[in-house]
Parts: sequence; structure tokens; C-alpha cells
Amino acid sequence: MNSQIHKLAKKILNSDSMVVFTGAGMSTESGIPDFRGPSGLWKRYQPVQLQDFLSSRDARAEYWRRKIESFPDFRNARPNKGHIALAELYELDYLKFIITQNIDGLHQEAGIPDERVIELHGTGRYVSCLDCGKRFEWEDILPWFNQDGTLDPGKDTPACDYCQGLLKPATISFGQAMPEKETAEAYIRAAESDLFIAVGSSLQVYPAASIPQEAAKSGSFFVIINNESTPLDPMADMVINGQAGEILGETVASIKQDQ
Ligand code: NAD
Ligand code: ZN
Repeated sequence: MNSQIHKLAKKILNSDSMVVFTGAGMSTESGIPDFRGPSGLWKRYQPVQLQDFLSSRDARAEYWRRKIESFPDFRNARPNKGHIALAELYELDYLKFIITQNIDGLHQEAGIPDERVIELHGTGRYVSCLDCGKRFEWEDILPWFNQDGTLDPGKDTPACDYCQGLLKPATISFGQAMPEKETAEAYIRAAESDLFIAVGSSLQVYPAASIPQEAAKSGSFFVIINNESTPLDPMADMVINGQAGEILGETVASIKQDQ
């Protein structure tokens, strides 16, 4: 692994337009579970589809109950070594953009400005109205629910005080369209990059997984950092298997030595 890290450090030192693409594996070391990894959430739950959220009060209530159940871990999560390493690469002016599937806001919390983080799946840091987009803060929404996230029978999930639309955390759910502006920008940044590193993503979710493919096709040097193999490994110029935080931390340490 050491020689791979050294090689990656060299690639970063020689890059002009590095882009990093992150998935749920980026944040497991911050205590936020992934979906598809060995102890992922999907071993416990099937996701609630947007169509069911819209049409069924019980599906909505179950969706919110799960969100509220995991909310304390989500709120208490702090950037890990990997987030901090990427923020350092931004400070050193190597990293230009992050494209993330994560909804936890930890790249921004580590110090990367909002306009450099392209959030493909929205954010769980606040709640928004599905109809008019009005933003609501979690602390104003939580009191609507019981302590354990349930609702009393007959009570519906919260609605917008402006247009009566349904409220939902501002994430993109299964069955919901990807945000157009962010998706378009992600493809452009991927195509323009000369070094593209996918970190902690199973690279199985489409269309998100087609963004690294776009980078590779456009001639970018394509690196995968993940703790298990992915379907895109054969397309990559380099695959490093291990813990994301450790690998990124060591890579940045090596860069600082060589600079
Ligand atoms: P995924 O769950 O499909 O895959 C995560 C991958 O990372 C797996 O292959 C896993 O083995 C690997 N991994 C886990 N911990 C790792 C570590 N410390 N180092 C290296 N690799 C590690 O995630 P995905 O492909 O990003 O897709 C799932 C979707 O779920 C995403 O689109 C995202 O929107 C959402 N999600 C987000 C969060 C978050 O915001 N932190 C958490 C769970 C799910
Ligand atoms: Zn509204």
C-alpha cells in the first residue's frame, strides 16, 4: 500500500484540476453507517420510495421515524481524518471540487467552501418543502414528533406553513429525480478533471456512478479508494483497498514531505 500512496501523492502534486467523488464510505469513520457496506443500513431497512412518501401517511411516518432515530448520530458526527485530509488538499490548491453522494455536510464542516462541494443527493442538514422549496430548521420540526420519532395515530407528518406542501429532509430520496444543476455541473467538473479520485463509494448507484466513468472516458487519471472491490475497478488506473481516512491522511502526509 505504501508504494501506491507514494504514487498517488506524486499524481496529486502534478495535477492541475483534481476532483474527488465521495460516497457513504467516506463518513463511516465519523460514525455514520453506509448503506451497502458489510454492516450497512440495508441489512436492516428497505428504503422508503418517494412515491410511497407522497401517497401514504404511514410510509411518511416511517420515513421520518427512521430519520429521527438516526438524527443524534448524524448531528454529532464530526469530520474524520479523511475529510480533514481533503480539506488540506483544497487549502494547498490541489483539490478543486468535491462531488458527493453524502448528505452529511462533513466536507463543508472540514473547511471546504459550499461552492466547491457539489451535493448530488441533497443535504440532511435541513428540511424543505417538496412543493415550494421553503427551508425549515430541524429544531423547529422535531417537536412535531414524539421523542422516539413516532406520531400519534391520525396525526400526519409536518406540512409547509406557506403552501401546505409536504416537508421532508432536503435529501434526494429513491424515486426522486437527481437535482439538474448539480448533476450537470458534476459531469462538467468530471470531464474537465485531470485526476479523479472516487472514495468510499460502492459505485453501483446510477446515475451517480456514471460520473467517474465520464472522468475516465475524458482521459482523467482515475483512482478508486475503497475497502472492497467495485464494478468500476477494471476501468481505474489505480485501485487502493483500505480505510479511506487512513489512506487519505497518509497521502497528504507524503505530499507535505515532498513539497
Ligand atoms: P454505499 O453504501 O453504496 O457504499 C459505500 C462503500 O464504501 C462500500 O463499498 C463500503 O464497503 C465502503 N466503505 C465503507 N466504509 C469505508 C471506509 N472507512 N473506507 C473505505 N471504504 C469504505 O454508498 P454509496 O455508493 O455512497 O451510495 C449510497 C447512497 O446512500 C449515497 O448515494 C448517499 O446518498 C446515501 N448515504 C449517505 C450517507 C452520508 O451522508 N454519510 C450515509 C449513508 C448513505
Ligand atoms: Zn411550501
